[in-house]
Amino acid sequence: MKAAIVWFKTDLRITDNEALLKAISQNEIIIPVYCFDDSHFATTAYGFKKTGDFRGQFLIESLLDLDTSLRALGSGLLVLKGKPEIEIPKIVRQYKVNKVYAKREVAFEEKQTENLVQSELWKLQCEILTFSTSTLYHAEDLPFSIKDIPDVFTDFRKKVEKDSAIRPAFEKPASIRSPQIPEPDLPTLQQLGLEKRSMDPRAGIQYIGGESEALKRLHYYFFESQLISTYKQTRNGMTGSDYSSRFSAWLALGCISPRFIYGELKKYESLYNANESTYWLVFELLWRDYFRFMMKKYHNSFFQKNGIKNTAAASKTIDSEQLQKWIDGKTGVAFIDANMTELKLTGFMSNRGRQNAASYLCNDLALDWRYGAAYFEQQLIDYDVCSNWGNWAYLAGVGNDPRGNRYFNIEKQAADYDKNKTFRNLWLKE
Ligand SMILES: Cc1cc2nc3c(=O)[nH]c(=O)nc-3n(C[C@H](O)[C@H](O)[C@H](O)COP(=O)(O)OP(=O)(O)OC[C@H]3O[C@@H](n4cnc5c(N)ncnc54)[C@H](O)[C@@H]3O)c2cc1C
Repeated sequence: MKAAIVWFKTDLRITDNEALLKAISQNEIIIPVYCFDDSHFATTAYGFKKTGDFRGQFLIESLLDLDTSLRALGSGLLVLKGKPEIEIPKIVRQYKVNKVYAKREVAFEEKQTENLVQSELWKLQCEILTFSTSTLYHAEDLPFSIKDIPDVFTDFRKKVEKDSAIRPAFEKPASIRSPQIPEPDLPTLQQLGLEKRSMDPRAGIQYIGGESEALKRLHYYFFESQLISTYKQTRNGMTGSDYSSRFSAWLALGCISPRFIYGELKKYESLYNANESTYWLVFELLWRDYFRFMMKKYHNSFFQKNGIKNTAAASKTIDSEQLQKWIDGKTGVAFIDANMTELKLTGFMSNRGRQNAASYLCNDLALDWRYGAAYFEQQLIDYDVCSNWGNWAYLAGVGNDPRGNRYFNIEKQAADYDKNKTFRNLWLKE
């Protein structure tokens, strides 16, 4: 009997999961595995946790949902705890596995873990096969090699839109043959060093993790409400749940894939209408792709103070008191404070808010941008290594912004995007 492990990481779904489907088609027995990697719950050099309370909760919900879906197909999710390079080989030995199927990583630490697992598996004559499952455009379909990807987003986008095509999403599997998989033994938040936090009732959305919830949100945003048809006009909003898709948290853990979203969008367009707004969602998903491909091109440069630029960034240091005020929403600048309060109490902040909060930290407070990025890493429910560090570097003037130091005039932004102070009043009232 050929047995394989499917190692789930940030691809917690059964629909459009190439690693899962390939494993099923090439093997007789499948062992789906998730490993709670100790390092994901550690404290970083910047003094923040790598995973905060909101994302911890969202992750647990996503895993429970994945387990339910896998059980409905005849399988289940085996949950491990520890270092993947130690825990996965144990399962390889136990089930006499000769192949491990997984999502391909691009970011520095994730790639390091993948490599460590690979070298441990080689010792057991077990192969690891990885698949590019998280972008809209498949890396192999790009009209340039990774090292030649333009450093300016618009150049990248135009060429990709002209010369590449988006692959169709894979169907979900009909069944999975697995040995008896025990009920998932998930750690509690407390065991992960986290706390159970209820989301502030002012949050636009009470996020629940998992593929089922992701599909519900998609169905609501596209077909029930048809909000997608006005997305371009509303996407800079900040209050409520409907100004933007809110797909990011599910995308970040891979509860839904961009290719699946694209397929549903095309269905929507053929049923209703295609307009600037329906296109704009694809445009935004392309930004997501872009930061992932940039991470692949520049490796760990996105975590360095000077980012991908050769010139040294202005020597910005850290002032713990100023940083803490920014985190606590106590800078005295109402627009920033409202956004930072929302982030602290919900794990979410709008794109408009993120741009302003980041610009304020880099330009007005003149602090080292990496502390801001590290705090977002802890706090965001939708934290994605490439989107977060790529956007931060961009705003700090050490990333892909062709204009260099992009400065947001906070008072003007507040007047343009929160004219009636609805957002500020919502988050700053006692
Ligand atoms: C400083 C900063 C940090 C950020 N950190 C993250 C992060 O950790 N995770 C994350 O998913 N997004 C991040 N973003 C991008 C963006 O703010 C969020 O994706 C968006 O606000 C999520 O809300 P939504 O799903 O409703 O977005 P929508 O407006 O509905 O957009 C649809 C999707 O497009 C993608 N997208 C939109 N804008 C961007 C962008 N600028 N960069 C990359 N992808 C984008 C997201 O996947 C999003 O879900 C960051 C932006 C900034 C300025």
